[in-house]
Amino acid sequence: MSQVLPPLRVLISGAGIAGPALALALSRLRAPLRCSITIVERHPSLRVAGQQIDLRGQGVVAMRKLGIERAVRAAVVDEPGVAILDWRRGDQQAYFGSNKSGHGAQTFSAEWEIMRGDLCRVLYEATTTTTTTTTKDDNGVDPEAGAVVRYRFGTTVEAFEHVRGGSAVRVSLSDGTEDEYDLLVGADGLGSGVRRQMFTDGRHDKVFPIGISCAFYTVPPREGDAPGAAFCHFPGRRWIMTRRDKPDCLRVYLGYGGGAPGVDDERLSRALKHGTMAEQKEAWTSVFEHDMLDAWGVRRFLEGMKSPQADDFYTQEFAQVRADSWSEGRVVVLGDAAFCPSPVTGQGTSAALVGAYVLAGEIARACGGKDGALHGDANPWDNIPIALTAYETTLRPFVQYIQDIPIRFMVRALCPERAWVIKTYHWVMWFISMLRIDQLAAKFGSDDMGPWKLPDYPELLL
Ligand SMILES: Cc1cc2nc3c(=O)[nH]c(=O)nc-3n(C[C@H](O)[C@H](O)[C@H](O)COP(=O)(O)OP(=O)(O)OC[C@H]3O[C@@H](n4cnc5c(N)ncnc54)[C@H](O)[C@@H]3O)c2cc1C
Repeated sequence: MSQVLPPLRVLISGAGIAGPALALALSRLRAPLRCSITIVERHPSLRVAGQQIDLRGQGVVAMRKLGIERAVRAAVVDEPGVAILDWRRGDQQAYFGSNKSGHGAQTFSAEWEIMRGDLCRVLYEATTTTTTTTTKDDNGVDPEAGAVVRYRFGTTVEAFEHVRGGSAVRVSLSDGTEDEYDLLVGADGLGSGVRRQMFTDGRHDKVFPIGISCAFYTVPPREGDAPGAAFCHFPGRRWIMTRRDKPDCLRVYLGYGGGAPGVDDERLSRALKHGTMAEQKEAWTSVFEHDMLDAWGVRRFLEGMKSPQADDFYTQEFAQVRADSWSEGRVVVLGDAAFCPSPVTGQGTSAALVGAYVLAGEIARACGGKDGALHGDANPWDNIPIALTAYETTLRPFVQYIQDIPIRFMVRALCPERAWVIKTYHWVMWFISMLRIDQLAAKFGSDDMGPWKLPDYPELLL
């Protein structure tokens, strides 16, 4: 017989990918366990900015387990492949098609490419639809289980402290309200405020810039633009990529690895950290305009920054987060806040979904049983610290694998300095694409990141 239990009161900071994904996974706790979840988001509305992100390997499995495959499938970007262009005139040097077979490894253009905003919307809708899961899939999910998720936009966590002998967290929010929770989750991205406050001595808050900056924005398309992605290296550790998720817009990515002669790196760095959007656009213009104005695309894309569509401009210095620990008492970090691998790995979103699934699974396991049985008469939420430790122990090997790729080598490879190196790349890529080595590697390769397998949690209704 079901016991009547108070719900687990969870406060999540950040309504990006990891936060709503956790809320969704927690909505699959088996009765009598249930949650009451509030998500606070700094942005005044759902922050749907961002370009194409992709799901790979274990991230695809987690997405399926969260029950959003159909909605994600409906929003995927059908990118046929990527063309490698020469920087002088934009002549195509090589072409790599995507692997849509559903088997083997995905290539640069993944089967599960989706605009970040669309994935945010999918997760938001999945967590705000009042009925639980039976209407969403056929997994035989108990409609009595589930979470009530409330979103509070334009709100941040100002301060928190452990109270009641460590069995609750009192949180003060920016709107002046205060409340107690059984669990506080920082899913607030790379610059996580929760992570910074969680470790007051600062020792554990390790953010490592990887030496590459990027700007993203949209421009009007032109006839002749590549139907898929196009990538172009420029001497001086610079590159431009374009992608096309819809016919009526072209997404532009500017990349820079620093140290090019004639570029004021300090100015770019200052603008990225503290500048207005106008200052950031000027700083990015100065990265290319002094010597590359006549090279492929440069004049057009620098001009394009002034188009109304480029109001979605967003720029960032890429970094990895390597926190020594992911929790303290009843406060835990998740997604980029805990283990951002950096966008060059292509694993940030997959890791966020995997992390959300594992955290919810470990809570279900530590606080309940797979048949809904509780561990005796004790309050099941007393086991939250056990769940947080298990979350970290389980997930660390996966995170370590995706973070320990040779990032410096990747950055150097992504941003070659000299024209002859770029020319050599073009030869190698032409050779690979002509012999279809990429397709063979995809066919016989695996998309999983390392040997780590996503655990099964029969304790969750998935
Ligand atoms: C605007 C934006 C655009 C992005 N574009 C790309 C992209 O084009 N390509 C790519 O690979 N990755 C991009 N990312 C990063 C990518 O979304 C993440 O690497 C990955 O999906 C992990 O998601 P996350 O939920 O951990 O972090 P994020 O997606 O960064 O979400 C964090 C959320 O927390 C909110 N937040 C931040 N601080 C606070 C606070 N103090 N209080 C409350 N809320 C807060 C943010 O507004 C955001 O909604 C982008 C992130 C953002 C925020």
